[in-house]
Amino acid sequence: NLSDQPILAYQPEFEHRYLRRLSIIAELKTALQEQQDELSLFYQPKLDLKTGRVTKVEALIRWNNAILGFVSPDDFISVAEQAGFIGKITDWVINQAIKDAVTLRNAGIEMSIAINLSAKDVMDQSLLPHLSLLMETSQLSSKALSFEMTESDLVQEPVKAIQQLQAFRDRGFEIAIDDFGTGYSSMAYLKHLPVTTLKVDKSFVLSLDSQQGDQKIVQTVIELAHSFGLNVVAEGIESQATLLLLKKWGCEFAQGYYMCKPIPFDDLITWQNTHQLT
Ligand code: C2E
Ligand code: CA
Ligand code: CA
Ligand code: CA
Repeated sequence: NLSDQPILAYQPEFEHRYLRRLSIIAELKTALQEQQDELSLFYQPKLDLKTGRVTKVEALIRWNNAILGFVSPDDFISVAEQAGFIGKITDWVINQAIKDAVTLRNAGIEMSIAINLSAKDVMDQSLLPHLSLLMETSQLSSKALSFEMTESDLVQEPVKAIQQLQAFRDRGFEIAIDDFGTGYSSMAYLKHLPVTTLKVDKSFVLSLDSQQGDQKIVQTVIELAHSFGLNVVAEGIESQATLLLLKKWGCEFAQGYYMCKPIPFDDLITWQNTHQLT
């Protein structure tokens, strides 16, 4: 109620954002309950730089609302986290990804789908049992899905986070630290993290072909990851020059607009038929 909040009400910019946040919450809850066709899952290929093949994709949620129009996940994921219903979104994403994974499996296409998890999901003790049940019902192997989460999600409760991640690893899932390099405390406990992959944040990759500073950072992250026995995915590749540098430095996987933007599931199958290089 804005009349209870005179300070907010007299700052138009602030008020606008406040109201937008409220409508995102209301509309998103409705979408999750009764307008699920507003939501879709797009997929972005990860190119295996050793083989030239694509056997991994990242699932990225899209939301097109009747009133708000297209809303970026950068704008609604954090709102859903703060408003306490990110779990509902994650459930929707997992269900959709499993449906698509079954379609891929039945078509004989080997493709692992990476799902983004939030801090709340990682700490939720019921997520893994729930997920395992869905996987068993669909007779999917643990290779069909993997998970990405940011380091800031993990540092809040590191001991519990490590236990939770270990449970995912024990179940056979690969785990990537997303946006690596943008947090602060990762170095200190990287050695304790039961993860398989580091994802170099796109802020270091977008201008890699021209920025010497970024080149040093990315080369160092790749060496660091390898010294811990981890794979590296670079995201945000927008040029061939960047792709070639990453390949030269031994980066394992590359994701970015230069290869392919996130696309609807049906387009993914077409894309993969025409782009497999071997
Ligand atoms: P992210 O997990 O770091 O995902 C990578 C983002 O970079 C995606 O934005 C992707 O479309 C974009 N991207 C990929 N290649 C390029 C490139 O070459 N250039 C540029 N400029 N951008 C590129 P998107 O899809 O808008 O997602 C934004 C963020 O929203 C994601 O960042 C992730 O944190 C969150 N998100 C998206 N889908 C989900 C989801 O299903 N669950 C959760 N919890 N978060 C999600
Ligand atoms: Ca991600
Ligand atoms: Ca990322
Ligand atoms: Ca991000």
